Amino acid sequence: MAKRKKRQKRIRFWKAFVFLLLAVLAGTAAFGICRIKSGESGEGRPGRDAGPAVLQGAGERLAAAAQDAQAERQEQAEQEAQAERQEQAVQEEMQKAWEEAPKLRIVLDPGHGGPGTTDEQELGAVFRGTYEKYLTLVIAKALGEELSCYGNVEIFYTRKDDTAMTLKERAAYAASVDADILVSLHLNASKEHNLFGSEVFVSAYDRYYAQGAGLGEQILGELADYGFASKGVKTRLGSHGDYYGIIRECKSLGIPALIVEHGYMDEDRDWERMDSAEKLWELGRRDAEGIAAYFGLEKGKALAELPEPEPALPSQPLMPPDTTPPEDVWYTASREDPDTLEITLYAKDPESRLMYYDYSLDGGDTYQRAELWAGGESVSFSVTLSEEQETGLRVRAYNTYELRTEAKKR
Ligand SMILES: [Zn+2]
Repeated sequence: MAKRKKRQKRIRFWKAFVFLLLAVLAGTAAFGICRIKSGESGEGRPGRDAGPAVLQGAGERLAAAAQDAQAERQEQAEQEAQAERQEQAVQEEMQKAWEEAPKLRIVLDPGHGGPGTTDEQELGAVFRGTYEKYLTLVIAKALGEELSCYGNVEIFYTRKDDTAMTLKERAAYAASVDADILVSLHLNASKEHNLFGSEVFVSAYDRYYAQGAGLGEQILGELADYGFASKGVKTRLGSHGDYYGIIRECKSLGIPALIVEHGYMDEDRDWERMDSAEKLWELGRRDAEGIAAYFGLEKGKALAELPEPEPALPSQPLMPPDTTPPEDVWYTASREDPDTLEITLYAKDPESRLMYYDYSLDGGDTYQRAELWAGGESVSFSVTLSEEQETGLRVRAYNTYELRTEAKKR
């Protein structure tokens, strides 16, 4: 707006200037005719004899106009400078609010890392010609960058390059920066290369469970929106409490920690969601959105007070892992044509949740890839199988802890 006004003024000034110049030329040449039409005055073409008087009047008007223009320019420059000062003050105020706002101290822990080429702990999962340690680093950087758009976080990294670190060192680092939470980033793989989906591991104990589970559910929700099947929030116990070192070590220093297993590197259905830098970046972005949602953060805003995370953080009792396989597992089969068997598989799992099913056509020597248990107490599917081959059929149901039970035929 100001720019256009300025330009109009400039045009007016130059019009006037050209008018004066041509008028002087015209006068000197004694042609006596001013061929210039003044757009502003609306005057027509003056007569031959009117020349000098018109010129004198025009000259005065022009001088006044030039003065006005000069004054206006000055005024405008002052206004602009003032607007700039005001804007700078607002910026500084915002910067100050951003810096002084209360902050969550979040440690991002890209799983694995180190220059070794054989150490499994350093490499992580090894598939598709790459190592988990590289992919988790990309996810961490994406997560950190996305999360830094929120005003109430301070982000730390246990590693920003291919450095080897023990789990104890990672936890100690989190304690040294007074972390509120540590998020350890991983990609999965299964022994039989048949599983898929995202899962989050958290401490099994009181507030460490509550906070980890609350945040974990949010992250899993985001990953599910991206297309991963959710295996849910899980716990795992060893002889010293929590099974996973990073969770156990962090808890011993008073820091809740969770392990995000985004998906399985050795499974095509999951791999297609992480097989490029852009897709890994998307994983980090999803994690960031889950974290922001859990803590009630707002993008581009520094809240004066941190909201209470949802769900709230009452102490919760120990949440033990599910150690028993699905119960009551059976199936019915019917035939609509000689080569197709329609199967309905039933199972229950009160401690966790049903997650997959799979079947074998060769008496259990080999199994087809696991499929998602997309249902309540039963799932239905069809198998290409003749009546004679039916004796080789085996069907299994899995829970989220990957424990499975072979179904009986009814
Ligand atoms: Zn890992």
